[in-house]
Amino acid sequence: MSSPTGAASPTHSLPSYLQADHLGPWGNYLQQVDRVTPYLGNLARWVETLKRPKRILIVDVPIELDNGTIAHYEGYRVQHNLSRGPGKGGVRFHQDVTLSEVMALSAWMSVKNAAVNVPYGGAKGGIRVDPKKLSMGELERLTRRYTSEIGLLIGPSKDIPAPDVNTNGQVMAWMMDTYSMNVGATATGVVTGKPVDLGGSLGRVEATGRGVFTVGVEAAKLTGLHLDGARVAVQGFGNVGGIAAKLFAEAGAKVVAVQDHTGTIFNSKGVDVPALLAHVKTRGGVGGFAGADVMKAEEFWGVDCEILIPAALEGQITKDNAGQIKAKLVIEGANGPTTTEADDILHDKGVLVLPDVIANAGGVTVSYFEWVQDFSSFFWSEDEINARLVRIMQEAFAGIWQVAQEHKVSLRTATFIVACQRILHAREMRGLYP
Ligand code: NAD
Repeated sequence: MSSPTGAASPTHSLPSYLQADHLGPWGNYLQQVDRVTPYLGNLARWVETLKRPKRILIVDVPIELDNGTIAHYEGYRVQHNLSRGPGKGGVRFHQDVTLSEVMALSAWMSVKNAAVNVPYGGAKGGIRVDPKKLSMGELERLTRRYTSEIGLLIGPSKDIPAPDVNTNGQVMAWMMDTYSMNVGATATGVVTGKPVDLGGSLGRVEATGRGVFTVGVEAAKLTGLHLDGARVAVQGFGNVGGIAAKLFAEAGAKVVAVQDHTGTIFNSKGVDVPALLAHVKTRGGVGGFAGADVMKAEEFWGVDCEILIPAALEGQITKDNAGQIKAKLVIEGANGPTTTEADDILHDKGVLVLPDVIANAGGVTVSYFEWVQDFSSFFWSEDEINARLVRIMQEAFAGIWQVAQEHKVSLRTATFIVACQRILHAREMRGLYP
């Protein structure tokens, strides 16, 4: 095992909101940074940069509800690091959004963008709201007001939002329109994940799931796991989980268990994935699907399977359920689904974890293609986009695999080594100004 050499610069006292809440996503991220610091060599003197987001904007988002009352929601945009380029990261609408969560998600974007070597820093946004309780009109007003409030920070060459949990192409269209109206010119490149007719990219909707599948295939090859007949369990059957499940099923795998916010279902022969996707589209979730049995939510993690794909929210695999996991391969479609303690338990059990910061990087990779296409006003074919995506994911994964072997570290630490070196090298070359 190579000996880690670097020494971090002394930690100066952090503002209270940056302190590790060890149960929260930001605390989880800080632990991940601490693990990589010994491998950063001389760049470790810059490591504090990674522990402090560059900018945090907290906004009040007032809207008039359909019944005439005024409701206020708390929104955020965090730019974690901009050393390698403009901020890039999604916007989440969810009732549990917190500043700690958005900070962690923005930091994971910095790492992810550097891991696949797209020229972006990391950012993330969100509003603490249950959008399922809003009408379309209320959702539009919320999105437009939020976009105006964070207008200080965003822009095609400053910070480019994208969809995340409970946001989609329609929300991006409203964000693009609002920003464009405010600056007086159509600025398609201000967001990615837009509908194709508004400067969106072919292949973007499927990109994250396709990336999850691509790294899964690579890891299966390297570990001798046969995808044909492999049993797959998926938590979250939205954009990421649904597409990943579809691609694994098309490759011959059996999707035996699916959990989402409406229920947990099981079918040992494998669910009919296209039928389940159609059911979710009309019913809003997997609950009530006729082609599978209902399963107790807490039994999901112990399902007999070879591949487990958490593709819902963070903090799902914890010390309390990691011991039950039978999968050989965990592919993190979601951001931050595994706590550090659970990561160690999985490692000790010999479960290979493909970490979020590489496994779900397909979305931002095609977002990058979308942004490039918007700037050049020249659009590529879907085949070209998918081929470029697969190539970037395969090359990034191969490099990370090699670093993991070299240092005898987990793939998460290896991804952080590759990414943090890129970020901090950029930081060092730019220097401090003023
Ligand atoms: P989505 O809104 O399309 O789907 C979210 C899914 O999670 C839904 O199936 C929902 O039912 C399920 N879910 C929500 N709460 C749950 C709970 N408590 N228990 C079980 N399931 C629950 O969102 P998405 O875009 O698929 O994002 C899923 C994850 O992937 C998030 O962590 C997101 O940050 C991450 N991610 C998304 C993208 C992207 O391009 N969409 C890219 C990278 C990472």
